[in-house]
Amino acid sequence: MDAILGQPRAIEQLTAQVSAQRVHHAQLFFGPQGVGKFTAARAFARLLLCHSPETDLTGRRAACGGCASCRVFHTGGEGDTPDADGHPDLHVVNKELAAFHPDKKIRDRKQTTIPVDIIRDALIKPAFLAPQLNHGKVFIVDEAHLLRHDGQNALLKVLEEPPTTGGGTTIILITPREDALLPTIRSRCQRTAFVPLPNDVVDHYLDQHAADMGPRGRSWLAAFAAGSLGRARLALDHDLVEWAQVVLPGFDALAQGRPEGGLGPAMEARIKAFAEGWVKKHKQASKEAANKNAAGLMFRLVTTHARQQMITAAAACDPADPDAADAALRPWTTLIDHVNTAEARLASNVHLGMLCDGLVASAAGALRP
Ligand SMILES: [Zn+2]
Repeated sequence: MDAILGQPRAIEQLTAQVSAQRVHHAQLFFGPQGVGKFTAARAFARLLLCHSPETDLTGRRAACGGCASCRVFHTGGEGDTPDADGHPDLHVVNKELAAFHPDKKIRDRKQTTIPVDIIRDALIKPAFLAPQLNHGKVFIVDEAHLLRHDGQNALLKVLEEPPTTGGGTTIILITPREDALLPTIRSRCQRTAFVPLPNDVVDHYLDQHAADMGPRGRSWLAAFAAGSLGRARLALDHDLVEWAQVVLPGFDALAQGRPEGGLGPAMEARIKAFAEGWVKKHKQASKEAANKNAAGLMFRLVTTHARQQMITAAAACDPADPDAADAALRPWTTLIDHVNTAEARLASNVHLGMLCDGLVASAAGALRP
């Protein structure tokens, strides 16, 4: 568990449960995307499934590394791909499992939620079978906010009365959106908060993965990541620095009341290319959801930039002159309002090109000198 960076509080809370032999059977890991929740869940599962955990030098409980469970534990990779693991008593439940469901209707459906059938077949049924290594079972439900209410209600019964055969069952729900879970689910879980990672962890990651990037791109990337290695990786994988270089100068011009042509289409082209690449790589992904996610990313890119510009503008203002400060900040607050409106329209299945053009036109209208 010590290998998990930047989450000392969460790790302390989890290992303390093991040391006190009071591990709650229902766990909820919540916090921003890409800060190590899944990696921590896997490491916690490894510790829970270990047959003879040891006490390390710091007095914490740690997996032994040599028992029957530790030996089958697949330790490859960075530990954050939510795929099937090598361990027979560790079950990862996610929306991608639907691609392997025996029912063709469920298999062929493009997944934007975790269907209740997946919860029944991949969690509830196996939870009542004896564990293969006779030392408990762990279920990790990734992106638990994608469970609809029927799925959450089905899950509730197991959280109420967890099977206790063969060492018991632990269920770990992971989500960046705790608010999307029913209060009855949340109240039955031991909650562990994960926080944005500190700058030095993000810096170290960028040293390793973006060493040849110029200082402007790198500082943009660090601001965009906002303490999430998942976001930093996403930005690098999809060349979002290029998005920033092309789109953000257009928004700077817009904020100064000098709109340039082509900004809407430039946004739309990048959103579409991202979504197409995503659907190609993730077979079961829905095109509609990919478009929305990509557009959401584009909007976040613009608002992150606008907030940074506000900070710069505010620092340059004379504190004795509130009117001047107001005038300097207004373009950026206006821009953020318009981007937020565009983002809200995403939910109503609006055409992407119209959405981007509409955003640029409405912001340009409001910012005309
Ligand atoms: Zn072990």
